[in-house]
Formats: sequence, structure tokens, C-alpha cells
Amino acid sequence: MDRSIIHVDMDAFYAAVEQRDDPSLVGKPIIIGGLSDRGVVCTASYEARKYGIHSAMSARVAKRLCPNGIYLPTNMEKYKRVSKEVHSILQRYSNTIEPVSIDEAFLDTTGSDPISIANRIKEDIRRELRLTASVGVSINKFLAKLASDMEKPDGLTIIRGEEAVELLKPLPVTKLWGVGPRMERELNKLGIYYIGDIQEYDREVLISIFGKRGKEIYDFSYGIDHRPVEDHILNQSIGEEETFREDIGDMDFLIDRLENYAFNLSNKLKSKAYLIKTITVKVKYKDFSVETRSLTLTMATNSYEDIFKTGKHILTTRFEFHDKIRLLGLTVSNLIYPEDPIQLSLDI
Ligand SMILES: [Mg+2]
Repeated sequence: MDRSIIHVDMDAFYAAVEQRDDPSLVGKPIIIGGLSDRGVVCTASYEARKYGIHSAMSARVAKRLCPNGIYLPTNMEKYKRVSKEVHSILQRYSNTIEPVSIDEAFLDTTGSDPISIANRIKEDIRRELRLTASVGVSINKFLAKLASDMEKPDGLTIIRGEEAVELLKPLPVTKLWGVGPRMERELNKLGIYYIGDIQEYDREVLISIFGKRGKEIYDFSYGIDHRPVEDHILNQSIGEEETFREDIGDMDFLIDRLENYAFNLSNKLKSKAYLIKTITVKVKYKDFSVETRSLTLTMATNSYEDIFKTGKHILTTRFEFHDKIRLLGLTVSNLIYPEDPIQLSLDI
């Protein structure tokens, strides 16, 4: 039996939440993030996108394109809260939900009518949260995500299994899950520009060049994707922490321990092929008070060096130590799929 998979993607999520909560922002070019010149745009409202602004663009470029835009700081606590509200709406319609990021999720609705569910999800989100989502319905995750991206904002797009091969044929290879600019260049060298070119390419040659990825993009080019909707991952964080036998006041010792945690976390991430964007250091003092400090990177990573260096930076610059330390922790969160091109994962 064919599966039925729904991909829900909130439209210009952060900007839409801010516009909802402050009517004076409605209809205006809103840019979230990128307050400092060295910052990066997190989300641009549709009005701001008309100026060519998109997520992951440097703030300097954005300000040149749209000097009169309204630049707002990110309010992650608020967006997380709304994200939870979205999630609880999704839970009404499936027990198998995979949050991909703060504003995106897959649902497996096999056995039910996915189109009526998609309509109800959109309606609930509109009525209860006063926000819009673009929804894709298909037979697997790749096609459902492709579908949700075809009509934005407020879209509902269905890709039926039998239309997939023809529909994919004229699309550029970058529409395949996991084909970013680097992979695109490699494919172009082989004379492959469109998904149809991959359909006609020799599968064994692709596998000999790209290994597992070669098989994957060949399958994707025919709309084949067997990956399950994973309902137990990605919405949590992975962390290591340790309570010391004695309270510690020695920074070098703490940095050493942090290096150890970073090494373990990086291995765990690599074994599951995840990337992360947020790194948090937790400190519990001798008097049992707890402080945490986080940093979110602009590029997702799973490298031990990135995690360690960022953790060390947080530990040595973001705390005002008022006492010895009895517990130190390092946590990574904001997990994303490495197959996602970075721009996509930032497109929130
Ligand atoms: Mg989105």
C-alpha cells in the first residue's frame, strides 16, 4: 500500500509571528535577525522578499537592498512556544510526526484521507494561531516536501505517485533532496542539469561516482524515497554533563572536560548523520544555582572542533563565575538533516 505523507511548512514563520502580534507590522518588509552588520537574516516577510531579501543573507546586503525595512531581533522563546502550539495541532491528526525544524514537520497519515487532513491542519493553524502554513501531500517525504514548496504562502499541493516521474523531469537537480551547490557542480560536469537527466543516466555509474548518494539521487529522480517519518528524533537535544566529586575553580580543567564532551557529542551526531546549530553550556555552582548560555551558529555542523571551540568560547566569555562549579554540561540542539542544503534549513 502507498503511504500518505504530509509536509507542513509554516510561511515566513518568525516574521509572520511578529506581524501577527503587532498589527503595525502587517504589510511591511520585516526582517528578523541581522541587527548587527555582521549578522545574518533569519527570516524575511514576504514583503521583504520582494526586495530580494532571503534567509541566510548577510545583514549588510539586506540593508543595502532594503534600507527602510523593519529589522527585528529574534525572539526564540516566543517562536518555540508557537512551534509547540503548531505541533499540538499536528498531533490531532497523526501519532507519527517528525519535526524537521522549528517550523516544519512531516506526518505519516497512511490509512486516512491525507487531503482532508491537510485542509484541516491549515484551517486549525489559521483559526487558532492566526498563521498560515504551506502543506504538501504525497507518497513519501521527498515528494511531500517538494510539494509544500511549490505553492507558497498558504499553499496546498498534492503530488500523486503516478505523476511524480513526469513532474520531476524538467526540474533542476537542486530540487532533489540533498543536492546543494557543490553536488550540483559535480552533476553539471557529467552533463546533468535536470532531474530528467538523472533518470536517463546510468545508475551504476552514478553509484560508482557518488556512492550511496548516487543511489539516493537516482531513486529520488524517480520519486522513490523509502525513509520513514521518524517521530522520535530531532525535536530534542543531545547533551553530556558531569557532576564533579569536588567543586572546581580551575578553568583549564573545565575546558578539558568540555573538550571531552564535545568529542563524544560529535561522534554521536556523526553516527546518526545529524548536524546541529545550537550549542549550550550549563554550569551548576557550588550553591546549586544553575546558569546556561547558548550560541546558535549560522552554519550547521557536527564537527568536534566547531562544537568544542564554540563551547569553550561560551564557557570563557559568557559566564560571570561567582562560585566554584559542581556540574558542567554541554548540549547541542537545533538538529537538522544534513541532506538539507543549508539555505533550506535556514529558510524559516
Ligand atoms: Mg518555513
